[in-house]
Amino acid sequence: MVHNASGHSPLLIVADHAGNLIPRALGTLGVSDSERARHIGWDIGIAPVCRRLADALDACLIQQNYSRLVIDCNRPPGSDTSMPTVSELTPIPGNENLSEADKAARIAGIFQPYHTAIAAELDRRKHGNLPVALIAMHSFTPVYKGVARPWHAGVLYNRDARFAQRLRLLLEQETHLVIGDNEPYSVDDFTDHTIPVHGERRALHHIAVEIRQDLITGESGQIEWAERLARLLPLAYREILAAETA
Ligand SMILES: [Zn+2]
Repeated sequence: MVHNASGHSPLLIVADHAGNLIPRALGTLGVSDSERARHIGWDIGIAPVCRRLADALDACLIQQNYSRLVIDCNRPPGSDTSMPTVSELTPIPGNENLSEADKAARIAGIFQPYHTAIAAELDRRKHGNLPVALIAMHSFTPVYKGVARPWHAGVLYNRDARFAQRLRLLLEQETHLVIGDNEPYSVDDFTDHTIPVHGERRALHHIAVEIRQDLITGESGQIEWAERLARLLPLAYREILAAETA
């Protein structure tokens, strides 16, 4: 889904795990409603944060509304976790023994259209000489495999830490926030697709932002985080550009 396609902000917001829909032909994947509603199915709270953020920045937002249990759009197709048979501790029976045709259908129907939309928007800006930075938005579970996580949010990167470090410093100036530096995850070529392919290979400024889910489950937290990032992301971006020209 593309929102605010003609937005003027240089920041392009993408959300790989914005929804938990499952194509009707796949039923429930053998997973209960309550399990599919958990973080294993999607990034809880991130869609409304991204919508508010895009509106506040006049930015284009491209989001994937299908569940990552069907196909994880931030995994290279073919990787073990692209169509997981277990997510955290939950078995996903509908992903067992998939045929090559089953896998190809999910790639063609869900993965490719999403990434083609992102690539097309980046191409459009390149050909129009329009500035762009890629902002990949995620949320994470406060407790993973029984271990509580201390961060309110995290900034993630691999080869190019510039945007992430600028934003981290700005976030740490906000009161009471504990910010992960490549926590609770980091970006690499094997566990990620969006930043390596669309950000690094194109040599664009980029960042992945992770927000703890319990902070953005309700509307007040969604408003708070959208407002915070609408304030700090452009500031971090301007600081990077200023450092480049200094
Ligand atoms: Zn995510």
